[in-house]
Amino acid sequence: MEPATHRIDLVVVGAGIIGALAVWRALQDGLTVRWYDPDPANGATYAAAGMIAPTFEAAFGEHDLMRLNVESARLWPTLVKELEHETRVDIGFRRAGSLTVAFDSGDLEEARRLHALHREWNLDSEMLSAAEVRERLPLAGAHVSGGLWAENDHQINPREVSLALIGAIARHGTHVEKKRVAALLVTDENSEQAGVNNHQVGEEDQRVEGKRQRVEGVILEGGVSIHADRVLIAAGWQSSSLVADLSGIDIPTRPVKGEVVRLNYNSVPWLDTEFTVRGLVQGRPIYIVPRSDGEIVVGATTYEREDDRQATAGGIFTLLRDARAVIPGLDEAEITEVTARARPGSPDNLPLIGSVADGTLMVATGHYRHGILLAAVTSHLIQCMLRGEKLPDYAESCSPSRFTQLEDPDARYPLSVE
Ligand SMILES: Cc1cc2nc3c(=O)[nH]c(=O)nc-3n(C[C@H](O)[C@H](O)[C@H](O)COP(=O)(O)OP(=O)(O)OC[C@H]3O[C@@H](n4cnc5c(N)ncnc54)[C@H](O)[C@@H]3O)c2cc1C
Repeated sequence: MEPATHRIDLVVVGAGIIGALAVWRALQDGLTVRWYDPDPANGATYAAAGMIAPTFEAAFGEHDLMRLNVESARLWPTLVKELEHETRVDIGFRRAGSLTVAFDSGDLEEARRLHALHREWNLDSEMLSAAEVRERLPLAGAHVSGGLWAENDHQINPREVSLALIGAIARHGTHVEKKRVAALLVTDENSEQAGVNNHQVGEEDQRVEGKRQRVEGVILEGGVSIHADRVLIAAGWQSSSLVADLSGIDIPTRPVKGEVVRLNYNSVPWLDTEFTVRGLVQGRPIYIVPRSDGEIVVGATTYEREDDRQATAGGIFTLLRDARAVIPGLDEAEITEVTARARPGSPDNLPLIGSVADGTLMVATGHYRHGILLAAVTSHLIQCMLRGEKLPDYAESCSPSRFTQLEDPDARYPLSVE
């Protein structure tokens, strides 16, 4: 192993939208940061459509997530101002609302149920007749049974956000280093007292019960140790592997593959709609996100699969079939890109944001299908953590400690038969 380098305040692992915002917040507070990612801005953030849609993303059984989404959507306009001021880049924030088109009568029934859920949770949506849908969307296909309008669901361009931030951060002298973090550097109190110092997580003795562990930095692929007061993991679905052998800390992220198709409507300008169009097509959700530069993002498939980055014919066929059921004119748009990436899934669809290991390890990951929407609130929570401030009550639901292993595994299933 090479000798350790000099000490720094913070190491950030991952340069997707979450890592980039973390570094930016840390630099604002005058911290010295080292930042690592072997493939910056090319994870889930690269694929994302960028919907900031707290209303249409509200789902049955996800009340805590809805509260977090709403809080983040509230913070986004201020963040946009800050980011555009700092980066001098238009990050594609469109405040135009969103329309959900219900295809058949079953889809209309689903739209009605969602509308009832919105009312119960004080989210602003409006039921529309088929004629009202056509008024807002003259491009709609022949088959429309009704729809829903959400005034507060907007969009941003995630690629612009992450690339603009990486550029602005570099101009301030901090560069994302294209290296993989292989492991955390951990010290536990027992071994410290016994005179044993830093060692790589994964060694057997880390699993001994009752140890208080502190993260002292990271070990890069190739063996270089980087010592830091604190480490922040924002490595998307790969975050789990970095803490896999740390006793008492579980960050159970997993890859959930998704595909999107990018189209260009510049040659068919009449395809432009100001707002995002979503569809419920015979029970399948679809979205069509138009950007001001002529791009349309059509998404997204969802598979419990690894991040193989391969778009499938079947997946893309399904997306285009359902999108053209909503807007048939999409047939004429040029296909510019198909993309497959993995969302950072968590067991309860809520992110993991908080500090562990005596505050030496911070995590901001597991944002699943809402990492762009949740980026604003996440950046606020990261700022609180960096400043040692108590996190607001609404952040309790995303505490990383909620997945910490119980010491007695049998205590998890008290109904077991004798
Ligand atoms: C098809 C699709 C559509 C989506 N649409 C939306 C949407 O419309 N709205 C929305 O809110 N969300 C959407 N999402 C979800 C959103 O993209 C993610 O939740 C969000 O991008 C997560 O950001 P992140 O920075 O945590 O992860 P990522 O963007 O995946 O970044 C993680 C980074 O960590 C790096 N990394 C991993 N391991 C290591 C390591 N050991 N060392 C160093 N670096 C490492 C990776 O290289 C990567 O660059 C979508 C996702 C997909 C896949």
